Amino acid sequence: MHKLTLHTCARHRFSSNAPANLQLQATMPHHACGACQREKEERMSEETWVCTACPGWGDHEFCAIKTVVKDGKIVRTEAVDYTGAEANEGHCCQKGIASWRQVYAEDRLLHPLKRVGKRGEGKWEQISWDQAFDEIGAKLCELRDKYGPGTVAFWNITTSLPPSQGLDTLLGNRLCGLWGGTDPLNAYGLDNGPYYASYFDLGDFYKYMMIDPIKFDATSYIIIWGGNPVENQQRVAKHIVEAKSRGAKIVDVGLLFDASAGYADWFIPVKPGSDTALALCMANQIVQRKEYDRAFMTKYTVAPLLVDVATGKFATSGDKFLYWDEESQSARETERGAEEYEGTPAFNGEYVIDGAKFKPAFQMLEDHLATYTPEYQERITGVPASDAIKLGEEYSSHRPSFIVGALGLRYQNQGDAYRAFYLLGMLTGNLGHLNGGVTSEIQPCGFPLGFNNPSIIYPNGLEGDKTIFVKNGDFFEDAKKGKYKAFIKCAGNPVHNCPNRSRWIDDTFPNMDLIVDIDVWMTDTGEYADYVLPAAMPFEREELIAAAQYNHVVLQEPAIEPRGECKDPSFIYRGLAERMGFGEYFQNDADDWIRMRLNTPQPFIANVDPPITLERLKEEKLIRAAVPPVPWDPFLGMKFETQTGHMEFYSERLNNVGLPMATYHEPYEVPTTERMENGTAKHPYQFFSGRQRFFMQSMFTDDPVMADLSGGKPTGRINPVDAEKEGIHDGDLCEVYNERGHVIIEMRLDQAIPPGTIQVWFGWRKRTFTEGGMYSELLVPLGDNDTLDDAALYWYQCVEDEGKVGEILSGYAISAMAGAWDTIWDCACDIRKVEA
Ligand code: SF4
Repeated sequence: MHKLTLHTCARHRFSSNAPANLQLQATMPHHACGACQREKEERMSEETWVCTACPGWGDHEFCAIKTVVKDGKIVRTEAVDYTGAEANEGHCCQKGIASWRQVYAEDRLLHPLKRVGKRGEGKWEQISWDQAFDEIGAKLCELRDKYGPGTVAFWNITTSLPPSQGLDTLLGNRLCGLWGGTDPLNAYGLDNGPYYASYFDLGDFYKYMMIDPIKFDATSYIIIWGGNPVENQQRVAKHIVEAKSRGAKIVDVGLLFDASAGYADWFIPVKPGSDTALALCMANQIVQRKEYDRAFMTKYTVAPLLVDVATGKFATSGDKFLYWDEESQSARETERGAEEYEGTPAFNGEYVIDGAKFKPAFQMLEDHLATYTPEYQERITGVPASDAIKLGEEYSSHRPSFIVGALGLRYQNQGDAYRAFYLLGMLTGNLGHLNGGVTSEIQPCGFPLGFNNPSIIYPNGLEGDKTIFVKNGDFFEDAKKGKYKAFIKCAGNPVHNCPNRSRWIDDTFPNMDLIVDIDVWMTDTGEYADYVLPAAMPFEREELIAAAQYNHVVLQEPAIEPRGECKDPSFIYRGLAERMGFGEYFQNDADDWIRMRLNTPQPFIANVDPPITLERLKEEKLIRAAVPPVPWDPFLGMKFETQTGHMEFYSERLNNVGLPMATYHEPYEVPTTERMENGTAKHPYQFFSGRQRFFMQSMFTDDPVMADLSGGKPTGRINPVDAEKEGIHDGDLCEVYNERGHVIIEMRLDQAIPPGTIQVWFGWRKRTFTEGGMYSELLVPLGDNDTLDDAALYWYQCVEDEGKVGEILSGYAISAMAGAWDTIWDCACDIRKVEA
């Protein structure tokens, strides 16, 4: 552990411009100065510190935090000091600061538990690890012999560490692959819109979202679209602030008036799930006013390539693509991805070649966008036509500019929103500009740092992996019929975090002979398990962290010994694997696994000189990767792995499902203006289970301080206009419901909630609701077969056809990404007052 140098108390050295209350203290006699006395006492005890992966990583910051220990006890957490270009960039938000308190929480799991009552009854007996392993292993082998290994499902989607980084997830995948278990997470689809859009339009799943927020500094215009970085993403927010201080205009487009909206120069409220219509209106104006960057579009996009009007396919001659040369008035050939054209390639017009009609892709786009007039979008988005025009003009005239998309776009049509954003970036030449572009709150980071995770997940190579990948929707349908016999939850809390908890509790679990939950808490999922195994928290074990936005490799070291009988993943998986017949693959300890992960060919890590070793990390704690001094540029070289080798605002592949270009589709269930008017809305309100800054999914909800900061109990919010309509007063107990479920909750009147929306903060545990059900019951189930639309299914098919399921990119398994997008915000509900 490193020794911490205590800062010297400054109370005797206040200058005359110190705040008045501090000057008053400075005049106190030394012996009376309580702060000095405390400092003196503190000096008698030495503080040490280690790095820890913040357990609140789920907001996609992935911060490494500094955990300070005194007298064998954690006393606080704070920001890590990074080096190099990130020297002053370490952050630790309110959740990070509070995170260490969880270690000492009274209700932490400290011993292996076996259910003795009925499932969910809460009756347990404490057992030894050996008994737990023996019984679980024996049951799994029995089920395998009777029904086959594929009837055992492993759930590895989330953990207390990022999926790319957590040993518990990696070892869970290793065990699943060796055993031949089922991974039910295909098409789970959380946050997949940006991935889908960049996969089809730019040719890569991840890299185009990897934008270092430092690039915001010198931009001139930022649209925060559907996000709240001021409260949730500190490094992103810091560089938005930097940009503003240098003169950039900040616009916030979103559903709620939140802290980011308040910080922005201009807040544009949009109706839920309507964002694509506004973005396409902006694109239409840019095209109509001929403000697009023609040179950029010619060089890097499909704009000049001819499209067969009848088939929607690109015109080709052998492996060449065709364009229309205005000078020779003839069709000419061009190589895939060529940046130069002979003659003058046409952007507009219709041309007949061998009796068939062709148009340049740009003309196809112009025709397609014509629908998206300012008035049309106003009807959909609620944004006045004049504001839409102004936004389009400002975005187009400020270059470079950024669109920072975020998680507030989690509707079924999220993929189209991102395709529209990329289109705007192509039209204006912002994609590929050092200080412009499109990014997602999901992924803004420094250089992609990839550990050798495949060596852990695939001990026998990718070909030797026996995992059965199953679409999420199919899993639940088959589970209801009794196909799956066991569920090993290695990480996460799906019963709480996923929509419709009843499909777990009523449809899935009753058919299972064995449910095992590995966690640090008794979660909602654990409550229904047969065995609950206590995991060590990040503060108690070793781990490797790629601090996502900071270009550093960080070693997480245990700050304290694990409490009770809590164990690290090496121990837990070794114990399970030995009883399942795969013990030989799990004899490593945490040091060994870390060495395997560090042994990567990935150049940013492999090229560090002297090499990054575990020993070096133990000495230095964090080491900057071998990254260039300039921010990561995913567009470097401007080569695109698309069909045409260009950026494809027109996609022939998506034309296969009738979606060649970004299009506004009604969200899945939101009561849009159209639906309300034609009587097809299921319910009159959008149900919005918004996340708030003191919780991260179901984490932090049991911390009394965080719970107090969150209002002390679950509440819902409604706009005063709607409240009056419904006869609801502030503090009234109401039932919020739809056909999937209901929740009874105290309502608050709040103007920040737009009319037509009911909000209940996400995170509160089921037991905090005194009556009724749970808000997650109201949500549309993720990745279910009837929530997947054609594009999502096609996307899944494409990825499967290309053999990418199971492939590892940047440390992520494609299996969990190749599917639909999240429908978390895409729900309708109704509300009624109930008697207390
Ligand atoms: S931003 Fe997220 S990862 Fe960073 S300290 Fe806060 S909760 Fe932890």
